[in-house]
Amino acid sequence: MQIIVNGVIEQELADRLVAEEKETFARQGKKIAKIVITNLGDEVEIKTYEESPIRRIRRITGYLAETDRWNAPKLAELRDRVVHTNLAVRGRLAARETGVKLRLNGLTYESVVDGPGLRDVVFVQGCPHRCPGCHNPDSWDFGGGTEVDVADVLVSLPSSPLITGVTFSGGEPFCQAAALAEVARHAKARGLNLWIYTGYTWEELLDHPDPAVLRLLALADVVVDGRFVQEEAYLDLPFRGSANQRLIDVRESLNTGNVVLWEPAVPAENIPPVKIVR
Ligand code: SF4
Repeated sequence: MQIIVNGVIEQELADRLVAEEKETFARQGKKIAKIVITNLGDEVEIKTYEESPIRRIRRITGYLAETDRWNAPKLAELRDRVVHTNLAVRGRLAARETGVKLRLNGLTYESVVDGPGLRDVVFVQGCPHRCPGCHNPDSWDFGGGTEVDVADVLVSLPSSPLITGVTFSGGEPFCQAAALAEVARHAKARGLNLWIYTGYTWEELLDHPDPAVLRLLALADVVVDGRFVQEEAYLDLPFRGSANQRLIDVRESLNTGNVVLWEPAVPAENIPPVKIVR
């Protein structure tokens, strides 16, 4: 928790204000991110900012936070990204609830490993597939993560004018198809392309009993389908973990009734091998 004091304020008064705010927030089950106390002359103003319920996953060009693989340029990149975090949190304070709930594993802003270009990534919580060697096993538990209102996600997408696409990953996005369709419509209305990573195969999606699955599928540009298969995992596969997974051009596939693979604008061999496989 950060405490900022503007002007001269008696230590005793500042301590009391902070203690009161802590008590109020704790009673509401909320966490405080920052308290700003300002001496306005005749009175003291106190502003308290709630900690965002959305877990932020930091992943930049294949490097994961909290590992020892950072180097100086990447740390500099990370410091720059603090600006975007603050923008998202500020936007979140203005979000209006939609009543549509989404269980989130986390959000990543400005990823280059989850599809082409610079992308914001929504990692959902809950996955029934449980692939051995999964890149994100803490996303399996349907009761884990954080439940948020869809509005909390919409306000931060896109996170910057440089973003060209949004990716849904997980967890299993199609287990929360109705809520994600709201996010997808928001992204498409802003001209962003949409990629979805799913453990279901294309054929399983087409046969799925939940009608929201087809609605969400129809909003996607590319679906990366199929479970992660450790025996078929290669680090040089662009945008996927194992060779059985397909990058499917959704519009062409739905139009023709056959699976049509997505063709990158640049030759596949020029796309760096950045999909992380543990
Ligand atoms: S589908 Fe994806 S998130 Fe689910 S277990 Fe397999 S690799 Fe992990």
